[in-house]
Amino acid sequence: MNKNILQALSGGFDSTCLLIKNLENGDHVYPVYIKASSVDPVKRQIELKVIKELLANPEIKTHNLHDLITVPLHMRNIDGIFSFQPVLWTLGLFCEVKKRRDFYDEVHIGYIMNDSAVSYLGEIKRIWRSFFSLSFPEYNKIPELEFPLVKYSKEMVINKLLYFQNTVAYNCWTCERPSVLYERKKKNHGGREQIIEHCGRCAPCKKIKEYIGLENLPRYRRTEHRELLGRLVKRYKEKLPLDDPIILDMLITCEKLDEKESTHITSIVERRENRKKQGM
Ligand SMILES: [Zn+2]
Repeated sequence: MNKNILQALSGGFDSTCLLIKNLENGDHVYPVYIKASSVDPVKRQIELKVIKELLANPEIKTHNLHDLITVPLHMRNIDGIFSFQPVLWTLGLFCEVKKRRDFYDEVHIGYIMNDSAVSYLGEIKRIWRSFFSLSFPEYNKIPELEFPLVKYSKEMVINKLLYFQNTVAYNCWTCERPSVLYERKKKNHGGREQIIEHCGRCAPCKKIKEYIGLENLPRYRRTEHRELLGRLVKRYKEKLPLDDPIILDMLITCEKLDEKESTHITSIVERRENRKKQGM
């Protein structure tokens, strides 16, 4: 019988690969994006864009794929916990499971072979079960938390994605600290516009660099809406929680650059660097 699977989706290579695998198995997949305030706001916006594009892809949008669920989590990273993501994800997934009691058969996170979390899968499963014990002692069907990709290497993940569809692989976003390639002031809005790309230095970037390089991964245009920010600050004074994901999402927008724009930006940046080199 086909299962109802709640699956964490981040727009990265691993969770995208897991989504395809689950859909190919014929199970009903309910993708979840955990919108955590502790995650870089630009990364969060880009991830959501990637996910929306992915889920609209006709090859992915099969009868067993269900609508995206977003779970907002307002939480800061806690010093001393070196791997906070499993805590955030299990908590976010639990928030959804408790809304639909006894509906989901399994809950999936796409950790792969060399992820640091893989050494702690037992602990993560215990955290998962403890949420239920602490909330509903009488809960009679705790969906099993599964990690179906733990035997997959990064290479296997990427190969599976490339085999499925090149565009799916080259749309993924993996960088933890999106970096600014180019920046300019917007004439009319008083805000800034930045071109964002993979940093090439964080752990996920380094891994991807080894396999497919970073050149062909998408760039995004981040636009800051200064006018709106000014108005909000004026109205609410210091009471405004500027790290709140909902407010941040109103203040900045990220749009994917098409190939033509991306090439244009590369030439601007190259010209700039050449001028610098020549000391002009
Ligand atoms: Zn990076």
